[in-house]
Amino acid sequence: MTGPLRHALAQPPSAEGPAPLLDYLLAHSALSVEGTPGDWQGHVLDLDFHGAGGQTLHLRGWVQPSTQGWLLHLLDIGDLLLERQQAQQRQQAQQFAAQISEQLRLCSLFRLPEVLHEQLHALAQHWHIPCLALALLDDQEQGWHIHGVYQAPDAPQLWHKDQVLGTGLDSLNGNAPQALTFTQGLGDHPRLQRAFGNSEGFVVPFRDDHGVAAWLLCGFYPVRQLAPQLSERDWLQLSAALAGPLLGRLREQQHHHQLERLEALQGLLGTGWWELFPQGNEIQLAPQLALNLLLEPQTRRLSLQAWLALIHPADRQELSSRLQELRQGKPLLLCVRLQRADPQLPAIWYRLQGQALGIGQNQRFVGFMLDISDIKNQEQQAAAAHARLDNLIAHSPAVIYVQRYVEGALQPTFFSDSLQPLLGWSLNDCNDGALAERVHADDRDRYFERNRQLLREGAVRSRYRLLDSRGEYHWVLDEARLLRDDLGMPVEAVGLWLDVTDATLAAEQIRLSEERYRILVEDSPAMICRYLPDLTLTFGNRPLATYLECPPEQLAGANLGDWLSAEQHTAFVQRIRQLTPEFPVSTAEINLQLPGREHAWWVWSDRGVFDAQGRLREIQAVGRDNTEVRRSQLQLMQSAKMATLGEMATGLAHEINQPLNVMRMAIVNVLKRLNNGEVQLDYLQDKLKRIDAQVQRAGRVVDHMRVFGRSSEIEQQPFDPAQAVEGCLSLLADGMRGKGVELRIAPIDFKVQVRGHVDQLEQVLINLLVNARDALLGRREQNPDWRPWIAIRTEHDPQRVRLLVEDNAGGIDPRLLGRIFEPFFTTKPVGVGTGLGLSVSYGIVENMGGRLSVSNTDEGACFCIELPLVQSDQITR
Ligand code: ADP
Repeated sequence: MTGPLRHALAQPPSAEGPAPLLDYLLAHSALSVEGTPGDWQGHVLDLDFHGAGGQTLHLRGWVQPSTQGWLLHLLDIGDLLLERQQAQQRQQAQQFAAQISEQLRLCSLFRLPEVLHEQLHALAQHWHIPCLALALLDDQEQGWHIHGVYQAPDAPQLWHKDQVLGTGLDSLNGNAPQALTFTQGLGDHPRLQRAFGNSEGFVVPFRDDHGVAAWLLCGFYPVRQLAPQLSERDWLQLSAALAGPLLGRLREQQHHHQLERLEALQGLLGTGWWELFPQGNEIQLAPQLALNLLLEPQTRRLSLQAWLALIHPADRQELSSRLQELRQGKPLLLCVRLQRADPQLPAIWYRLQGQALGIGQNQRFVGFMLDISDIKNQEQQAAAAHARLDNLIAHSPAVIYVQRYVEGALQPTFFSDSLQPLLGWSLNDCNDGALAERVHADDRDRYFERNRQLLREGAVRSRYRLLDSRGEYHWVLDEARLLRDDLGMPVEAVGLWLDVTDATLAAEQIRLSEERYRILVEDSPAMICRYLPDLTLTFGNRPLATYLECPPEQLAGANLGDWLSAEQHTAFVQRIRQLTPEFPVSTAEINLQLPGREHAWWVWSDRGVFDAQGRLREIQAVGRDNTEVRRSQLQLMQSAKMATLGEMATGLAHEINQPLNVMRMAIVNVLKRLNNGEVQLDYLQDKLKRIDAQVQRAGRVVDHMRVFGRSSEIEQQPFDPAQAVEGCLSLLADGMRGKGVELRIAPIDFKVQVRGHVDQLEQVLINLLVNARDALLGRREQNPDWRPWIAIRTEHDPQRVRLLVEDNAGGIDPRLLGRIFEPFFTTKPVGVGTGLGLSVSYGIVENMGGRLSVSNTDEGACFCIELPLVQSDQITR
């Protein structure tokens, strides 16, 4: 063996001296040297030898016969082989890259993630990469994240999809692939150490025109051992084949989405772009816009003329001229209406904006149209509402104002237009404290207090007088509120002045008139009060208090019923109950039991106060003391009664004389028999009985006269009027008959009740009978043969009873008929008639709620006493 290569050969272990050729060869090369060297002659032998360092030596040689045998020439072709292998690998890598890139470029966007995964898988398998990932920049290009990842089934998990890597990769050189080793301490890239599991890694950048756009990350990958053949360029190519098309597709996808979003947005907003082509005078519209403008969907381009025809004629000319200006470079901004087929429909408004792009030949005009109908219509509505409000405020008696807060003071900064008509001022008239000068001097304290309260409490309501430009004062009601900023500091006060001059003056007048009425009521001699339907007093004036002997302040709350007897109370309440909104007034004479006094009679007038539903809420009453009048009436009645008795005296003498005569006769007869000694017990008994009967008769007359002569009871009572007829007859009947007057008394076959005093009704009847008797006797004097009579009849219906007293004395002179009830009217001679009988009778019947009337019949006068009946339910009450 000669030559330098012999040192590179490994010595066969067994040989000390020369060894057979086969011992130097790797097993597979033994095949090339089968047979004898003569067989190999003329062949090129590629033989692999065991190298001295354990490596393989690739040698190429040929045999030549030599003098001693065969000479084998060998050359080292290791480099040659390596280069070839590398070229193959490169080609393979290139093919691989082309495949990857084609797959990624051609697949649908939908399958892109899947295809990426497949390609990562293939790459990893081919170059034995346990973990392979592609990192891309985040959306905001702030940091990196794992976009796709492949991991061999037996490899530990290093990354997952969408994992955030931060900015660690930025510290690497973006121009070349780099092997990362972290085994000795922290290494050069501490921020990446964890991301690569503290183990060996390999990273390959991908650059596009923006810089590094992607990294291919290989984890747990000692690249020099596992892919020694691949050069940096190969790796860069592979990463470019993967990342280049992927990024392109992703951008395409992003763009697509953006377009979609934009189109949706345009559709939603009713907006869209347009482009004007200067040469053809044509315009192109965004599809959505064309649709919104109600053009055919396929209409993308239309002539400028056709486009202008879509615009309302009112705006068309302006738009046309603005487009001309746009061609000269002036940006376009205009709001236009669309021409609508039905002019009744609400207007559709578009905002049109456009600008020129580029210059010269390349100039383009682009812009957008935006549907602003909503805003425009709202604007118009708001403007209308605003105008209405302005109008309202300007014509109302209210002024709206704003006062700015400046260092504790309030400066007017705004007044509504109504200020001028109301007070004749302008804003300037009220500046710098001038406002306070216009407040009435008497109200100024109140005005300053208003300011303080507004600042203190945030709201105020006050009333003061303001001087207008004509020198007159207005009462204003001022309501203000303080507005504060976020920090609670006062910013301004907003408020309202309401002119309440009329109302205030009216209120003042009401107050004055109320005062006058109050004095009137208090100082009135009449008793004035208000009370509730249960008779509880709510107010009573001084005279009432004086009469009731009660302090005025205790009147309210007292009950009127406390001064009424049970009878009066019932009658009073019943009378009040009959008040209605239609007939709210009732007057009556009431009788009260006043402390320490006899009965008092008041003429009492009530007026009901009703609510909206017609329910009685309260009663206002005015009363006048009638006791004196009542008393004189009673006295008058008594004297009238006494006069009647006087008049009856002759009749009564006869009345009593009659039984006395009968008794005397009886006694004379008895005495005669006694003297003759022929008195029998029967006879005596009979005579004594007769005498007793006559005594009783006389006694009855005297009794009745006593009763009749008494004053009447105070309270009215229910009684049967037949009683009065009976009583009157018991006094007069015999006397009448004695004078030859026939009494025609119709029997009373019914029972009724009237309210009053039985003796008074009896008196009325006596008056009528006595008057009739007098008239009859007067007439008989002229005609002794004539037969006088008096008739008493009674009739009744469900409400009333009538007692009729009729005579045949020829009646009353019709000219006097209207006057006979007047007091002191009489046709009788002086000293005979008093002229009181009928007038008193009239008063009595009226007091019983009835009526006394007179008429002439064919034969004489007919007096009628008509009285209301007490209904059975009222008797029990
Ligand atoms: P006096 O009986 O005291 O005159 P009255 O008031 O009772 O007073 O009567 C007034 C007048 O009415 C009588 O004076 C009489 O002229 C007239 N008068 C009353 N009753 C009758 C009668 N039945 N017939 C005719 N005149 C009568």
